[in-house]
Amino acid sequence: PYDGPSAAEIARKRAEFLSPSLFHFYSNPLNIVEGKMQYLYDERGRRYLDAFAGIATVCCGHCHPDVVDAITVQARRLQHSTVLYLNHAIGDFAEALAAKMPGDLKVVFFTNSGTEANELAIMMARLYTGSHDIISLRNSYHGNAAGTMGATAQKNWKFSVVQSGVHHAVNPDPYRGAFGSDADKYVRDLHEIIEFGTTGQVAGFISEAIQGVGGIVELSPGYLPLAYERVRKAGGLCIADEVQAGFARVGSHFWGFETHGVVPDIVTMAKGIGNGIPLGAVVTTPEIAQVLTRRCYFNTFGGNPLCTAGGLAVLRVLEKEGLQENAHAVGSYLKDRLRSLQDKHEIIGDVRGTGLMLGVELVTDRQLKTPAKDEICHAMEHMKEMGVLVGKGGFYGNVFRITPPLCFTKEDADFFVGVMDTALSKL
Ligand code: PMP
Repeated sequence: PYDGPSAAEIARKRAEFLSPSLFHFYSNPLNIVEGKMQYLYDERGRRYLDAFAGIATVCCGHCHPDVVDAITVQARRLQHSTVLYLNHAIGDFAEALAAKMPGDLKVVFFTNSGTEANELAIMMARLYTGSHDIISLRNSYHGNAAGTMGATAQKNWKFSVVQSGVHHAVNPDPYRGAFGSDADKYVRDLHEIIEFGTTGQVAGFISEAIQGVGGIVELSPGYLPLAYERVRKAGGLCIADEVQAGFARVGSHFWGFETHGVVPDIVTMAKGIGNGIPLGAVVTTPEIAQVLTRRCYFNTFGGNPLCTAGGLAVLRVLEKEGLQENAHAVGSYLKDRLRSLQDKHEIIGDVRGTGLMLGVELVTDRQLKTPAKDEICHAMEHMKEMGVLVGKGGFYGNVFRITPPLCFTKEDADFFVGVMDTALSKL
């Protein structure tokens, strides 16, 4: 039984000693004390089905025993920066990660977060091309440091500090986008950005395969191959941000970009790579990686033995337990069931996503697509009361983000849909 401080006590400390910009879901924030596979437990031992997985972070399941074993064994043996000495953990994981990559993508740089990974990727693209301009998509999220905040394209996440050299292309969003699903028209916008906003030469293009923070927005079919082609014609590198969509989450493939049939020049990742431990990575080709030999590039904790031992265990669990196949099977089933729910509830404007990265957008008017901002908060509270945790996001904050641990079962999907159905009926 839990004998730590109460939720109220923790909330008081948080208010007094932590960043005032922290926010939390729910009017009475949950005190989560334990996690086990697809479940989280509060201080009274109440169990919740976790359909958000710490923002698509936990892929194998909370505290998966194999991952816990790998990091505890390593923690007893050695834990520090190994950049200056040899240690097998970093090499073993880099090799295993490279084996999951297409083409010549095989040189790995480890970081501690997605932001750091994208900062490094953007810098490498600039160094390699000798150009400065980066293009990202509106509604994207790529991080919150100087460069990545520039690439992030939602005002909710931007502070007024210098964010130079980034252009934001019209988002090829099939639901809300100006051109519907017409990939050619969106690429025309990208083309015009290059023609009118740059010298004609760019450093690169960065995009998620499915926008996570942006509200599980899938890009119009055919957009990415055309965008990559246009950007490469302008001398730019194509960066795939796999921080949320990577690591088997989309089910049909291991990486989100594979669902679009493209091969990027640089791939960045974090979140799922460590199943909850701080770890990120950039993977690129040997040729592009050469740019970092011009100076020292050093990251004290990037690739430390503790996190890379954990990362290797994550890859092994994904394979051993067939979690990609599970994400595909359960994700398709869940999406079908959510679509049926849409027939019943007028408030569901859209159901979208792939594998176990699904979104349900709530609108008060299907024609006008008016965001149901308050309704979603009430529905989330109801769902919590019934034992289900789900995420929310999107530019208007009106999209349920369903990104559970990949061990989610069909029974979990049924329970989830039942609870969402009841919550929406109560509105
Ligand atoms: N890229 C994407 C697609 C993300 O969703 C996030 C985090 N929400 C990041 C980058 C930044 O990762 P981190 O918070 O680990 O810096």
